[in-house]
Amino acid sequence: MKGKVLVIGFGPGSFQHITDRARAAIRESNMIIGYKTYVDLIEGLLTENQEIVSTGMTEEVSRAQEAVKQAERGNKVAVISSGDAGVYGMAGLIYEVLIEKGWKKESGVEVEIVPGISAINSCASLLGAPVMHDACTISLSDHLTPWQLIESRIDAAAKTDFVIAFYNPKSGRRTKQIEEAQRILLKYRSPETPVGLVKSAYRDREQVVVTNLKEMLNHEIGMLTTVIVGNSSTVLHDGLMITPRGYQRKYTLNQAEQPLKLHQRLTKEAEPWSLEAASAVETPLRRPTPAEGEPSLRDLAEQALQMVSGDNDQTVTLAGVYQPAEAIFELAVSPGVANKKFTAPQLITLAEVVGENGVMEYTQDHQMKLGIPTENPDEIIEKLTQAGLLLAPVGDVLTIKACDFCDGDKKDSIPYAEELQRKLGGIQLPKELKLGINGCGMACYGAVKEDIGIVYRQGAFDLFLGGKTVGRTGHPGQIVAEGIEPDQIVGVIENIIRDYQEYGYPNERFFKFFKRVKQVQGFTHVDITPKLQITAAPCGD
Ligand code: SF4
Repeated sequence: MKGKVLVIGFGPGSFQHITDRARAAIRESNMIIGYKTYVDLIEGLLTENQEIVSTGMTEEVSRAQEAVKQAERGNKVAVISSGDAGVYGMAGLIYEVLIEKGWKKESGVEVEIVPGISAINSCASLLGAPVMHDACTISLSDHLTPWQLIESRIDAAAKTDFVIAFYNPKSGRRTKQIEEAQRILLKYRSPETPVGLVKSAYRDREQVVVTNLKEMLNHEIGMLTTVIVGNSSTVLHDGLMITPRGYQRKYTLNQAEQPLKLHQRLTKEAEPWSLEAASAVETPLRRPTPAEGEPSLRDLAEQALQMVSGDNDQTVTLAGVYQPAEAIFELAVSPGVANKKFTAPQLITLAEVVGENGVMEYTQDHQMKLGIPTENPDEIIEKLTQAGLLLAPVGDVLTIKACDFCDGDKKDSIPYAEELQRKLGGIQLPKELKLGINGCGMACYGAVKEDIGIVYRQGAFDLFLGGKTVGRTGHPGQIVAEGIEPDQIVGVIENIIRDYQEYGYPNERFFKFFKRVKQVQGFTHVDITPKLQITAAPCGD
């Protein structure tokens, strides 16, 4: 008679968290094999007729061999693991031992894997809701896995913003691994990133500590601890760790009436970050890596048209424009990044293309914003370009606000401003973003008040992040670096803006984003908001 191996995960260790199937599987087995501590944990479920084989730590292989041998003799053998048998448990080892013996599913002993609650789930439930988004488990035990491999997995998970549950973080002899893990995580994540330490979840000596990445090693971590590290969105509330799933991207959580109606919620327009939306409109301005040089005028125009039409269901092309007569073509123009002087011929061209029915508005950003009813934006783009004007889309895009470099007298940093314009100007973002660039320490065009500001001084750049230009709570950006070498500044700014593009919530201004994520490209946010309570004042009060 063929026997059976039941590989059972019994969860964290409390009776309430053992599944019905696990209880039944234990009851129906005539032999129980497990690590002594685990056998003790389920003692209340055992019957007098069952044969118990309990062995010590590191004897997993002999337990698996014994289980297979007993099943081959016709026994029903329960191999027990805490947590889930298939997550660092006994399930894999049982199969490996069977395969070594030439086992086949059809002809060999029967195997049933009974799932249980793994530590990532049980510990998360005690901490709040930290595993609400992409997460992984990493065991820091290097008894069976080369440390180099573990290290590279930590690095990859840290870099890609996974919530991470560290199993086996520490033991009497293994004390350095968790320190190394913390060091790697701090390369990519803010020291303030929430961290939960849960020891003996749902057992008698349960301990729950909520701390952060910087402080985690100041708390007790041992063999029975699971360490859960939040991602860049994880927040603390009333001692709980909560990782937002992303609902705030579409919903206003404190309002019953949602801005997006039911039928709008799953449309591409409501999910501009989705693969489907990106495939439908492959605009160069949203590509992770922009093509060499400036986007073509055609690309710019198509982008602008997309915004005007609000129609992302199809790729809009300038050839064969489908717009109805009253469609408005919106875009912004300026004489150049550093140049603030419109020439008379340029103004004449502007007047011609805007015509009697269009609108031309001079903005705080030293641009003319145009709104032109037209069926033929291609022609308008052609005329404006021939007049030597710089064209840019409008909306939630990057606008570069450079000074005039004292009419070109202080011209050293102009090439960097132009390169930033070429690489990033008009890039689509969660919210409009102003990058201020000033050519000397006078900073008279107010770069330090913009979302991101750079000021050229003594042959290098000072960097300001998170300014709030308007409002009664307006404030300059926080100076985060001085003396950035000119050959590095474009890369630094590009990386910061790419992070904002990737991780910012729709409609989230850059200063709020910086405050929320706490660290961007290694630059740490410091709260400089005055402690004085300022009464909210709606526009016009
Ligand atoms: S910031 Fe400096 S370089 Fe630029 S316009 Fe003002 S004084 Fe001139």
